[in-house]
Amino acid sequence: MRIIYSDKHLRHDPSALIVKDNPLEFSELPARAEIIRAAVESAGLGPIVPPTDHGLDPILAVHDAGFVNYLQTAYARLSDCFKEPTPVFADTFATRLSIPRAPKGILAQIGYYAFGIGSPIMEGTWDAAYWSAQCALSAADAISPLPLGEGPGARAAYALCRPPGHHAARDLYGGFCYLNNAAIAAHYLQHSPPHFGEPRERGASHGSGERLKVAILDFDYHHGNGTQSIFYSDPNVLFCSIHADPNDEYPYYWGFADERGEGAGLGFNRNFPLQPGTEDAAYLDTLAEALNVIRDFDPRYLVVSAGFDIFTGDPVGGFNVTTEGIAKIGEAIAGLNLPTVIVQEGGYLQEALGKNAVAFLSAFEEEHH
Ligand SMILES: [Zn+2]
Repeated sequence: MRIIYSDKHLRHDPSALIVKDNPLEFSELPARAEIIRAAVESAGLGPIVPPTDHGLDPILAVHDAGFVNYLQTAYARLSDCFKEPTPVFADTFATRLSIPRAPKGILAQIGYYAFGIGSPIMEGTWDAAYWSAQCALSAADAISPLPLGEGPGARAAYALCRPPGHHAARDLYGGFCYLNNAAIAAHYLQHSPPHFGEPRERGASHGSGERLKVAILDFDYHHGNGTQSIFYSDPNVLFCSIHADPNDEYPYYWGFADERGEGAGLGFNRNFPLQPGTEDAAYLDTLAEALNVIRDFDPRYLVVSAGFDIFTGDPVGGFNVTTEGIAKIGEAIAGLNLPTVIVQEGGYLQEALGKNAVAFLSAFEEEHH
């Protein structure tokens, strides 16, 4: 399976921001991606290749332009403002119901675009987030039909994304996320050439303007609120998420079972909240339910938001899913037999990340045809 990895993620390193006795801990650290890369390499999975640059267009197809400009410039602007290098954190959050327009000043923008304090912006953060999105886009390329005469694309590819993305919405970021890698890949796949043999051409629209059906399955411990919101009214993208009950767990305000989409997208958003402490058997039963929803939708492509924070003992998670359980999840998802982009989301127990990623990817690859 082709694995897309960029060392640009190293530029985003919040470990320097850890303050003793500060209740906020940054578990989303560079070691995460390095551990996974080393593990998949020694397991013989791969090839591991760098992403190609698709530019800003596919990112701007999913995210607000003012928001993207903010992410790009926030660090430099705030450092200018304080006349010294300054990591970007909000101290005041906008309550948007009463705000008639997006603010222009950097101090106002931080609390407008951030919905939490878990996503600091440092000097290299934009670069890391941009290339994380490019990893997802390159994985999408790998599974699409190739230009005329070059045959069909691969059946699956893994984007080793860091920072993760599923908490980032069109113009909001938080929860260690900045750009929504899975959503960017899904939107890109929606506009990929509909039939094998047609030249590869993407962007605003192609030919008929037809949008392909894409399903996104998010099995991170936390609800993918950003992904949900981006496609909430889109009937061509089915979003299914299995996660901890938001009554008890981050992101708290989204992820309830009755959030089913809106307008034309009503019925194409499905949440499966589970209790903290959930073990393999109950988890796999719920997964089977979600997979049936995806089968009924009959998508052209599948995007998987993979979060290994479902593993027992994860410092940010609270399920009791084992490594064997994670392998069975990979096997079950592969059973859909769809061209699949796997996008890395969470997973913070560093000593288990490598074996869980390898267990998932190997089981997926073995079962996927
Ligand atoms: Zn998570």
